[in-house]
Amino acid sequence: MSEVLSCFDPAANPGGMLPVADSIAHILQQVAAPEISEMVALTDATGRVLAQDLISEHNVPQQTNSAMDGYAVNSATVSPDQPVKVIGRVFAGERFDGLVGTGEAVEIMTGAPVPEGADSIIIREACEIIGDQLSYIGPIKTGQHVRQAGEDIKQGSVALKKGNLLRPQELGLIASLGQKEVAVYPQLKVAIFSTGDEVIPQGESLPENCIYDTNRFTLTGMLQRLGCEVLDLGIIDDNQNAMETALREASAKADMVISSGGVSMGKADFIKNALEAVGEINFWRIAMRPGRPLAFGQLDKTPFFGLPGNPVAVMVTFTQFVQPAIRKMMGQADWQPKRMVAVAEERLKSREHRTDYSRGVYRINENGQLVVKSTGAQGSGILTSMVQANCFIEIQDQFSEIEAGQTVLIQPFSDLL
Ligand code: AMP
Ligand code: MG
Repeated sequence: MSEVLSCFDPAANPGGMLPVADSIAHILQQVAAPEISEMVALTDATGRVLAQDLISEHNVPQQTNSAMDGYAVNSATVSPDQPVKVIGRVFAGERFDGLVGTGEAVEIMTGAPVPEGADSIIIREACEIIGDQLSYIGPIKTGQHVRQAGEDIKQGSVALKKGNLLRPQELGLIASLGQKEVAVYPQLKVAIFSTGDEVIPQGESLPENCIYDTNRFTLTGMLQRLGCEVLDLGIIDDNQNAMETALREASAKADMVISSGGVSMGKADFIKNALEAVGEINFWRIAMRPGRPLAFGQLDKTPFFGLPGNPVAVMVTFTQFVQPAIRKMMGQADWQPKRMVAVAEERLKSREHRTDYSRGVYRINENGQLVVKSTGAQGSGILTSMVQANCFIEIQDQFSEIEAGQTVLIQPFSDLL
């Protein structure tokens, strides 16, 4: 079956399961970064990934200018006990044509260019004006309240590197270069479907022993958050023909295909048969909880993920395996989940040789310390645990448990979900 599994040494990890890090590495090897780009309006670029280095054609800011409303002076030529003569005024968008000489000042507004001869700004609140005479409360630190030309971005420098995810702050920076459009990598189209005769669509009454489909909705939300277009193929009947047809259609139309359910041990073999008929898929048992079974491979040339069926396991395996793959395929340079170190507020259960992704709630305690505790029941079908949580507590393979007071890694949902 899998050459992928053969590179894994079972002696190092009893139970014959693939470590999480190895699984991620194999997946990332098998998905490609994008090669083409497109121009989009800056107003449509949120969440897209920059496809070229952006070089600034000018200094930002263009001119040395005032950061405050006040008076521009040459700091070496004025002192608090000598009256200073106000010789003019300059507004933002204008310039003062004269020179600021010894003992002189020009009234200046925030954003206005600092006149020639001046090097510092005395804020208006520190000044008293009588006629054209200014007195002020000193001392002056040379260069105070002055923004230097190019202090944000130097002319000719790389303002933003390709591979950057465009968040609101990146859009602002690009706008400051004067660009209305930006080159980004294409959006990904991702096909999703659910499997299982017991899985029922919303709007129908729920037959006995059945469950409403939740996975297509968590997947849709997670994919939309990543900026993907979602192609929803619904719930596919538990039979091999229906499955093969769905897989062929999905791989032809989409850049990635994701299913949930039907990949665990002891399942009816038709999903495996269908996958093997249409593509090259490896069935992995990953040393993690929740989410042990995972199928990954290519349907024709389209990457395929067969996620477990349990709703929490879907969200865990998506964030840990699918999200990095999507980020790479989107052209993003930085795909690692963000982790922080927190102190466990209570004893946390785990098992050696397995990574646990408990649902946790982190907070800053009374001593200013980042602490975390579990949301309680951790069953892989308990979606409430995801709703209550604000992070995964990632308990790594070497720990059989975490004592209260010990540190653990957390993955905050603010970066993940
Ligand atoms: P499976 O991996 O197909 O054995 O599914 C594992 C568990 O997840 C079973 O209890 C399924 O009923 C449940 N499950 C599978 N797919 C879904 C879904 N789309 N929505 C909610 N629960 C599901
Ligand atoms: Mg199933």
